[in-house]
Amino acid sequence: MGDSGPSEDKETFCLRLRRVIQRRPIYSVLFASSSFALLVVLGLLQSGQLLTPGAVTSEVGGATSVPSNGGIVSGAVVRSMVEAAMTEVAAQTRAEETRTGRTGYPPVRTLPSNSKLRILVTGGAGFVGSNLVDRLMSEGHEVTVLDNMFTGRKKNVEHWLGHPNFNLVVGDVVQPIMLEVDHIYHLACPASPPHYQYNPIKTIKTSTEGTLNMLGLAKRVNARMLLASTSEIYGDPEVHPQVETYWGNVNSIGPRACYDEGKRVAETMMYSYQRQIGVEVRVARIFNTFGRRMHPNDGRVVSNFIIQALQNKDITLYGDGSQTRSFQFVDDLVSGLIKLMNSNYSLPVNLGNPDEYTVASFAHTIKRLTNSQSRIIKLPATEDDPRKRKPDITVAKQNIHWSPEWTVQQGLEETINYFKQELKDMGEIIPTGPLASKPRPIKNNNNAARKQQQQQRS
Ligand code: NAD
Ligand code: UDP
Repeated sequence: MGDSGPSEDKETFCLRLRRVIQRRPIYSVLFASSSFALLVVLGLLQSGQLLTPGAVTSEVGGATSVPSNGGIVSGAVVRSMVEAAMTEVAAQTRAEETRTGRTGYPPVRTLPSNSKLRILVTGGAGFVGSNLVDRLMSEGHEVTVLDNMFTGRKKNVEHWLGHPNFNLVVGDVVQPIMLEVDHIYHLACPASPPHYQYNPIKTIKTSTEGTLNMLGLAKRVNARMLLASTSEIYGDPEVHPQVETYWGNVNSIGPRACYDEGKRVAETMMYSYQRQIGVEVRVARIFNTFGRRMHPNDGRVVSNFIIQALQNKDITLYGDGSQTRSFQFVDDLVSGLIKLMNSNYSLPVNLGNPDEYTVASFAHTIKRLTNSQSRIIKLPATEDDPRKRKPDITVAKQNIHWSPEWTVQQGLEETINYFKQELKDMGEIIPTGPLASKPRPIKNNNNAARKQQQQQRS
């Protein structure tokens, strides 16, 4: 009874238990399952080891002894039925309490079964993914996260572990997966330049093989799929602000290409599956996003500047700081992703906040908001760094009725508080520098070089 929860008395529990047992047509199961079962029951009947259904009710009603003969169901069957029913009732009770937030989980809505969706979020343990998972869970859906934990962290989703609506699958999207789902939010892919340049071959596999696998899944189970694409597909843009009809200016062999070209081909795959097979697709072109659960070592401008400023370390400008970015708060992005998924609009949609800053002025903003004593210093510019970026969000406004609600300053205040807490937990954080992703020497190349030197010597 302890399992039945504090709010339920013994009588209600017994009543629910009895109802669960009455729903189980034990006899029809036994007889219908197979002729083998029939033989077993006949054998038991002959040996006089079966009891009447009345015995079931008497045990459920609280009697402690079960008659051992003269009926048609054995004592062991009765006991296992009651045990199974008790487990079911306890699980139902726990689920009810969990939904209302009484077991320590954040509260979730109760949805009627015809509007409750089974949703897969790939990359759901990452920064954007985990914020999206929170929103989908609180709306009452069943959410499965598939994440290989490359840049994701278990702590981003730990508050849902064990919740009846939540599943965490630690796995890689480059492997096929068999699931039954209604919607797929495909976010799996490292997003910060140091992270995606750390292992460019893996990044390109994630975007290509990973997206193919998720499209294969969407096709098989007839699910709608949303791709988290990026403003990076516009490269170093010659059109400003960027509109969805602009085809971009990407260096296909530069250090950012593993990400940019990976996302471009992922978009191509989405529309090929739509045209050829009829898979329902949505494509979000996401512009720079910041907020709680950013990885402290992702080396992005928002995390680096805040972490540097909070510790009074030098704020590092790459280049002269005249390059621009436009920043959106993560809660706005989550609303946009959900609106896009549930809309009828299937062409690419920019999701971003058009509030544009030069990186140098952004450094001053962060310094002011954190009351920091940091110096602002200049480091060499990184290769192929886009010179300007700002979304045109007319398509989002007109077709999915979305526009950002958070100002950059409101979002930054929230994010600064998040990083203050991270600093408390971690002590010191050394921000990731521009060379963090420099490729390591490859063994085989060294061997080849050594062989070449030997040949030259001899
Ligand atoms: P993130 O690095 O925090 O999250 C990515 C998640 O994907 C991580 O949890 C990581 O472990 C997981 N992952 C990576 N490779 C995987 C693989 N092969 N299999 C399974 N899981 C894998 O990044 P984020 O900022 O949350 O970005 C999420 C998505 O949004 C990415 O697809 C990114 O390209 C896109 N996006 C983000 C931004 C932004 O500013 N944050 C901008 C444009 C696009
Ligand atoms: N940047 C910087 N200092 C840092 C980190 C980034 O000046 O410590 C610059 C970077 O060169 C780029 C901009 O900030 O011009 C945004 O970089 P980020 O890595 O956040 O994302 P990107 O938009 O380049 O993908």
